[in-house]
Amino acid sequence: MFLNEICKSDRLKSTELLIIRLKETHKLRPNVMEDLRKLLAGFRGEKEMKYYLQFLPEKDCLIIHNLRLYDGKTYFQIDYLILTQRFALILECKNYYGEVHFDSNFNQLIRKVDEKEEGFSDPISQAKRHQRQLQTYFKLHNLPPIPIEFLVIFSNPSTIIKGNPAIKDKVIHSHSFLEKWEQMHLKYKVIVMDRKMLRKVSKNFMKNNTTETVDLLKKYGLQPSDLITGVQCPACEKFAMQRKKRKWFCPHCNSYDTAAHQKAVIDYLLLIKPTITNKEFREFAHITSRETAAKMLVRMKLPSTGENKGRKYHKP
Ligand SMILES: [Zn+2]
Repeated sequence: MFLNEICKSDRLKSTELLIIRLKETHKLRPNVMEDLRKLLAGFRGEKEMKYYLQFLPEKDCLIIHNLRLYDGKTYFQIDYLILTQRFALILECKNYYGEVHFDSNFNQLIRKVDEKEEGFSDPISQAKRHQRQLQTYFKLHNLPPIPIEFLVIFSNPSTIIKGNPAIKDKVIHSHSFLEKWEQMHLKYKVIVMDRKMLRKVSKNFMKNNTTETVDLLKKYGLQPSDLITGVQCPACEKFAMQRKKRKWFCPHCNSYDTAAHQKAVIDYLLLIKPTITNKEFREFAHITSRETAAKMLVRMKLPSTGENKGRKYHKP
C-alpha cells in the first residue's frame, strides 16, 4: 500500500520554476538546465519503479516515497522505503543511460557514454549510509529494531552495469526487483512487529517526513535581479502579462486570465524568499495599485504576520 503520492521532490519543483524565471542569456543557464535534466531523469526512474511496487502484497507492505527524516545530526532522504512486519527495505533508484562501472576501490560510480566518462558518488555507499541513519532513527524514536535491507535499482533496462560480482546482491535492474523481493521474503521469516506496531511506525515516519527547503539562488550564486519578473501567461507561457479591465492580458497571444498572478507569488516564495510584502509583490508582478495587490494576496489565503504596510505573507 502506498502511503503517499509519487510526486516531484521540492528540489525538482524549485529547479523547474528557476529555469522558467532565469534570464535567457544568463551564463549559468546551461548548468541549471543540466541539473534539471538529471533531476527529471531521476523522477522518471522513480515513477517507473512504482510499476513494479504495485505487485507487492497490498496489505503486508507499506510504501513511502521520498521519505526525508532527521537522525539527530543530519537529514537523509530515501527514494522508497518499504515497511513490512519482518524487515524494512530501502530503495535507491538510479536512472542513468550508458554504461556504469562500480569502482569499489574508490567508492565511486563511473558512467561512460560514447567514450566520455563522468563520475558520480557511489549509490551503494549512499544506501549503506541511509541504512545506518535509519537504524539510528529507530533508536532515537524508541521503535523496535528491525532488519533493514537496501537495494540500488537501475530503472533504465539498457543501462550496462559493471563492477565486482559481489555487488550483484545489492545492485539490480528494476525488472529483477520482484524476484529479489521473493528472496528477501524467504530470508526474513520472523515477525518483528505486529500490525499495530507497523501502523505506529509508519505513522511516525509520515509525521516526521519533512520537506526540503531549497535555496537555489544561494546554491547557484544568483541574485534576484537575474530572474525575469512579471506574471507569466498560462496560455503561451511568455512574460509578462499586463493589467487590463481588471484581468491579466497577454500581449503575445491576446488571452485573458484572472488568476495568473498566483503563480508569480508562489515563484517568489519558492525562489527568492519565504515571505512577500505587498510592495515586493507589486514590484515582482508589475502591479501599480496597492489596493489591487492587497486584494490578490488576501484572496490567496496565505498565512500572514504583521499589520498594514509591515504585513508579510508566508509560504503555505
Ligand atoms: Zn500568452
